[in-house]
Amino acid sequence: MCGFDEMERFDVVIVGAGVFGAWTASHFARRDKRVLLVDSYGPGNARASSAGESRIIRMGYGADEIYTRWSQNSLAQWKEFFGSKRPGLFHETGVLWLAGKGDARIRETAATLTRCGVEFEQLDRPALEKRYPQINLDGIASAIFEPTSGVLMARRAVAAVVEDAIFRGVEYRVGEVLTPTIDGEAKAISSVRTRGGEEFEAETFVFACGAWLGKIFPEVLGERIFPTRQEIYFFGVPPGDARFSPAALPTFLFQGDETYGMPDIEARGFKIALDRHGPRVDPDTQSRIVSEAAAEEVRQYVARRFPALLGAPIVETRVCQYENTSSGDFLIDRHPGADNVWFVGGGSGHGFKHGPAVGGYVAARILDGAMDEPRFSLEMKEKMQHRAVF
Ligand SMILES: Cc1cc2nc3c(=O)[nH]c(=O)nc-3n(C[C@H](O)[C@H](O)[C@H](O)COP(=O)(O)OP(=O)(O)OC[C@H]3O[C@@H](n4cnc5c(N)ncnc54)[C@H](O)[C@@H]3O)c2cc1C
Repeated sequence: MCGFDEMERFDVVIVGAGVFGAWTASHFARRDKRVLLVDSYGPGNARASSAGESRIIRMGYGADEIYTRWSQNSLAQWKEFFGSKRPGLFHETGVLWLAGKGDARIRETAATLTRCGVEFEQLDRPALEKRYPQINLDGIASAIFEPTSGVLMARRAVAAVVEDAIFRGVEYRVGEVLTPTIDGEAKAISSVRTRGGEEFEAETFVFACGAWLGKIFPEVLGERIFPTRQEIYFFGVPPGDARFSPAALPTFLFQGDETYGMPDIEARGFKIALDRHGPRVDPDTQSRIVSEAAAEEVRQYVARRFPALLGAPIVETRVCQYENTSSGDFLIDRHPGADNVWFVGGGSGHGFKHGPAVGGYVAARILDGAMDEPRFSLEMKEKMQHRAVF
């Protein structure tokens, strides 16, 4: 390793070792590029959006076929990466999309899944009653079941991708990268500095900084990335009760209730969360302690929808943040003032599963000049939120 007194030069410096930065580093390393990956706190650190215990990987996205295709692509890459060497990082729980009567989105999802060749079943109310007696089906008319989708063990999976990237030759450092100075004439930056005083030169710089993107680039992104507080609850299941095990209950989503949840994976408890944007927060300093009002709302919801969990104890909680764009579409584009600076983020509460596809897309755009997807452009990101991707 070189000493810090000499400036080190790389093909690409990637700032942020969350799921987007980790997979981007991995794709560049697979192309034999000299890569530096830097993170303020560490891969999947407690403040990062990628830090959760678990994240859903599902193919259903309504009519948004691009995300269905990216999920398919990503699931294949995740599974290949885990292989037999990294067992237990993907749980094929199946994913159940619950729907009220006349739900247009469920019809759009079915059409997209058919077009993309994704395996799924459509379940009517009697079928749901028979299969899932542990769910109170009030207001639920039908569902789509994706049998081969499931849950990624998020924090451990990101740590594994970074470990593998290091094995492939990526240099990894802990350090907070400061806002870079742009050479306006060259429309580029030549290096980045950390708060600790290190300086790294490169051809290209990728900022995959999640909810911090607006803090590092306040002028361009301060009003275009909306970090929101999100709380997650794990309920202890009754002793010896198998109704909430992955064999009996799939991962589920119900937009009508603005909720999603997971079975009792690795005996951590039945997981449930409200998929509703919370207040704007600072990812460095927000409180990671859940609010009593939200805990009570979730307790009451669980007792109503899963009556066997009435009075079940909350055994664990997590407070995280979504890093939303105005629509929920990702942000993968160049800095408008610097051609060699890239923003990669805007996961907007659904990005984790797509890490492998995001990394592949970034490498293809930078190294091969691949076509851009207009939905990921900076130009499409507004300063007012109107969520369109779920
Ligand atoms: C509660 C919750 C539930 C979710 N559920 C799902 C789900 O079920 N399925 C799904 O697919 N997605 C889900 N998501 C979304 C998903 O987790 C995120 O979109 C994804 O993890 C974002 O990854 P990222 O790499 O962009 O950001 P992060 O994971 O936040 O990583 C950014 C990294 O950048 C580093 N960093 C920031 N600034 C600097 C700097 N100046 N210098 C050095 N390093 C820096 C940070 O330390 C951090 O490690 C959920 C998110 C939350 C919060």
